[in-house]
Amino acid sequence: MTPAEPLIGGAGDPANILLRDVRALDPREGLDTRRDISVRGGRIAELAEPGTLAAADGQETIDGGGRLLAMPAFFDPHVHLRTPGQEHKEDLESGTRAAAAGGYAGVIAMPNTAPVLDSAPLLGAVREAAARQARIPVGFLAAITRGLEGEQLTEMAELAAHGALGFTDDGKPVASAGTLRKALQYQRLCGGVLALHEEDPTLSRAGAMHEGAVSAALGIAGIPTVAESTMVARDAMLAGYEDGRVHFMHLSAAGSVLAVAEAKRRGVRASAEVSPHHLLLTDDDVRTLDTRMKMHPPLTGESDRQALLEGLRDGTIDCVATDHAPHARDEKEVPFEQAPMGTTGLETAFAALYTGLVMPGRLGLAVLVERMTAGAALFGLPAARMAAQEPASIALADLDARWVAGEHGWESRSESCCFAGRALQGRVLATLAAGVLAHRDRTLEMVEA
Ligand SMILES: [Zn+2]
Ligand SMILES: [Zn+2]
Repeated sequence: MTPAEPLIGGAGDPANILLRDVRALDPREGLDTRRDISVRGGRIAELAEPGTLAAADGQETIDGGGRLLAMPAFFDPHVHLRTPGQEHKEDLESGTRAAAAGGYAGVIAMPNTAPVLDSAPLLGAVREAAARQARIPVGFLAAITRGLEGEQLTEMAELAAHGALGFTDDGKPVASAGTLRKALQYQRLCGGVLALHEEDPTLSRAGAMHEGAVSAALGIAGIPTVAESTMVARDAMLAGYEDGRVHFMHLSAAGSVLAVAEAKRRGVRASAEVSPHHLLLTDDDVRTLDTRMKMHPPLTGESDRQALLEGLRDGTIDCVATDHAPHARDEKEVPFEQAPMGTTGLETAFAALYTGLVMPGRLGLAVLVERMTAGAALFGLPAARMAAQEPASIALADLDARWVAGEHGWESRSESCCFAGRALQGRVLATLAAGVLAHRDRTLEMVEA
């Protein structure tokens, strides 16, 4: 059989839009200058000196005024779309609508659904649903072990042939080194990436937050950072031994950054991601016992946060991933220790990172854009590029726009966002995803030719 398309969904009319006098920023193209960008039939037809292109017949114009920022649309390799089985939290349509609103042109959905995505027929059914419902292209990871039980491996080769971009038991670790070793051996044969949620359950136990001064003060059972970092070190060793390809998910600890750096130095085929919340928040934000601050791994300490930021800056950490993990309101409106772990993140990622890191000079804008788009290549997919003849995947943002996260509601079905209520600067106004206008902000004016 011919292998399945890696990404699916995002169908729609090909866009015909002229972005007039925008700041075009594409770190991979070495581009940061004012341009007119003409999109015709869903492709970038031309980039030209600002103010030189006229709208063609039927082409809508967005006037950037030399100010609006056009960048390659983002890619998130780690989201939970909760389909099948938990559509009260999120579904393929609402989750990808949230992604488009955040400037994303592609996401990879996790398999810890109900039932777990651990068989080819189930993967086929979800991909069919995504073809109809997803607002932007979606890829899927399948489970490493059946039912995420950590014992029997799934039919990895068959799942890869049916379009799985890789494998993960996300939500849970692969606790047994022997099981992970076997998975690495199969992964080498069938391709794809093993994405690892790193947590030693004998260390994390029933912890509900980061183990430190705040957990002690609150009297809440803590999760020590070594629950993650020891597993990153173990699995980096295993991956090196088996020459497997691993991706470390949602790093939260300084020790994990060190272990990834060491693995890369030794030539292990490893990559890593970090979430906006681990880059911007700490366990200090848990003091209020707001359940939106409860996620997995938990918000860690300030020294961990600094190490994660340094790791992102120097490339030890390859990309930003939101780990968008929606829950329904009634599920989160319970005492902190009983609440499920997870925060949404797709709609706030760019603005939160721009406000919290770029504006104070902690991270360059071009580096942020590179890290928010790098996830595609890690899973063998082409990165969005702002160049002539490329499919148009462009995020258009107003860096001066100030807004309060959640003030106009959410595209996600879940309102459980750790950044809700925060004053942010920088807003995505429109998203072109694989040639289709997937999002358009209510404030954006478009003029038809
Ligand atoms: Zn996880
Ligand atoms: Zn996750």
